[in-house]
Amino acid sequence: MGAEISKLKKCYYCNKDLEEKDLVTKPVPLVCKNGKVRNYNRSFHVDCVKQFVNEHEDMYKRKQENNVWMQVGEYFKTDILGLDDSDTLPKFAVQRLLGLRTGNFTANGTNTRTIKKGYSFDTILATMKVANIEIQQALKKQNFNDDQHLINFAIFIINKHIASMDKRLRKINKMNEKTEEIKVEKVQVADYVKKGTVKRKFDFV
Ligand SMILES: [Zn+2]
Repeated sequence: MGAEISKLKKCYYCNKDLEEKDLVTKPVPLVCKNGKVRNYNRSFHVDCVKQFVNEHEDMYKRKQENNVWMQVGEYFKTDILGLDDSDTLPKFAVQRLLGLRTGNFTANGTNTRTIKKGYSFDTILATMKVANIEIQQALKKQNFNDDQHLINFAIFIINKHIASMDKRLRKINKMNEKTEEIKVEKVQVADYVKKGTVKRKFDFV
């Protein structure tokens, strides 16, 4: 009676039938009803699991970047320009800061996330904090005609320090990556377990 239910599992990524021979399981973090995140094993095609990991990595990177970008904007607004929390960051400042991210004067209409060119928001934030001493000293002596003049001056000082700061941060990141590499190798082996070797009790549907 009714339609015959396929005994084949569906791929968590593409939702197509999964044949036993190209089935891979991977723990996927899912949010439970109580708000906690738990890992559940899900089944994928071999190629789909790679695709799934790539996309989620990108999403995670974007979230991280957005988070640091918010800090960049806040710091520039309150600590450099001396505006209130409730003020909005001038549009020209947004464009110049995003220009540092993309390696252009301003970032009008270009993609500003998960790109390799320009400087990372982490580098921009760290440089701003160092450059601000110089910026604030200059502010005491110098008069600026308007916001745009002041913003350009601040970015000029940030630009002066950003290359050396970037070099320093990259060096630190490389050292951290080396220690991480050993840990990652161990995790990957456990991550891509072929279905045949996994006990049935892990097969959540
Ligand atoms: Zn698939």
